[in-house]
Amino acid sequence: MHLISKLPHAGTTIFTVMSNLAHQYNAINLSQGFPDYPVSPLLIQCVNEAMAAGHNQYAPMPGLPQLRNVLSAKIEKLYDAVVNPDTEITITPGATYAIYTALTTILQPGDEVIVLEPAYDSYIPNIELNGAKAVCVPLQYPDYSVNWDLVKDSITGKTKAIIINSPHNPTGYVWTADDMQKLDEMTRDTHVFILSDEVYEHITLDGRQHESVLKYEQLRARSFVLYSFGKVLHATGWKMGYCVAPENLMKEFRKVHQFIGFTANTPMQVAFARFLEHEEEYLGLPAFFEKKRDLFLELISDLPFTIYKKSQGSYFQLAGYEKFSTLPDKNFATWLTKEIGVATIPVSAFNHDGQDDHLIRFCFAKKDSTLTDAAARMKKLLLK
Ligand code: PMP
Ligand code: GLN
Repeated sequence: MHLISKLPHAGTTIFTVMSNLAHQYNAINLSQGFPDYPVSPLLIQCVNEAMAAGHNQYAPMPGLPQLRNVLSAKIEKLYDAVVNPDTEITITPGATYAIYTALTTILQPGDEVIVLEPAYDSYIPNIELNGAKAVCVPLQYPDYSVNWDLVKDSITGKTKAIIINSPHNPTGYVWTADDMQKLDEMTRDTHVFILSDEVYEHITLDGRQHESVLKYEQLRARSFVLYSFGKVLHATGWKMGYCVAPENLMKEFRKVHQFIGFTANTPMQVAFARFLEHEEEYLGLPAFFEKKRDLFLELISDLPFTIYKKSQGSYFQLAGYEKFSTLPDKNFATWLTKEIGVATIPVSAFNHDGQDDHLIRFCFAKKDSTLTDAAARMKKLLLK
């Protein structure tokens, strides 16, 4: 059978490639972003109890009301924004799904979407699946702040949306109030939608505040905001998330959602509604991850890596290896996995044209012992 590919240029996502390679070579996996420590026993108990109590059939299409109520209260407390739980929040099977659904809701063939690169690798394929075109704007090496002049120049009559992501994967850059101000100025009086990927909202380090678009009236009116329970609850394999958008946008989002997913896992929604009452579980994340980042940086401080900037947020740290090797980043990451036994992500995989700044990404959402073992293995670099 002949099939015309919808994604003729797509290979296998780098996360699968590197995790498979890690497995094959028995390497410590600091590549794909997932924790290797257990989720809270209380959360497991909440899920078990929800299943045992019979919450095992379809949840309402937009999600369980009690969970949407808890999320609405959380958003009001954190971002001082009143979000109607009935009409402005939809629970989804993961944030990636919510990104695809939001793009499918707004895009027509020929539309343009601005993507700031390096970028999470699902954005561009999800734009292209909708017959639209990604217009890529590079972030500024090596701190990966936003060049607002470039963003401004890339807005055309065809621009339908801009995708933003703070805290940022893979660079760990956290947007400032000034960035939000610039975005506000640039989008005001336009028809440009915003997709704000805020899956790392609770992982802002060194006292930084998360700048949610929900804090800004004008931005919020044009935004689909995407969140992931996987990141907040250390349970990436559960694939649960949600989207927040104004009622008129959410109405259309739900039209699409009802026919591609319809709803999301019921017992987990029951459990999340209970568990999120414990706000220390997410308010403690900055301190938790700051310790992990600092431990990891300390452990690798005498290794031949260049840390251009400490991660400001997310659970990723970039590192340059130019003192040690001139290999392209994909080759270096493969070599490091096979020969040293530590898997990472080559940052060029986040650029549509493979732009290679000779950087790799470490995930530090790992047990302290995993980070220590990985650093011990990398000591071999000093002998090469
Ligand atoms: N956005 C970014 C920036 C991410 O790093 C991830 C990683 N998982 C996601 C979205 C997707 O989240 P989920 O696993 O809930 O689909
Ligand atoms: N977002 C995760 C990362 O950046 C991985 C998500 C995935 O595997 N699709 O590592």
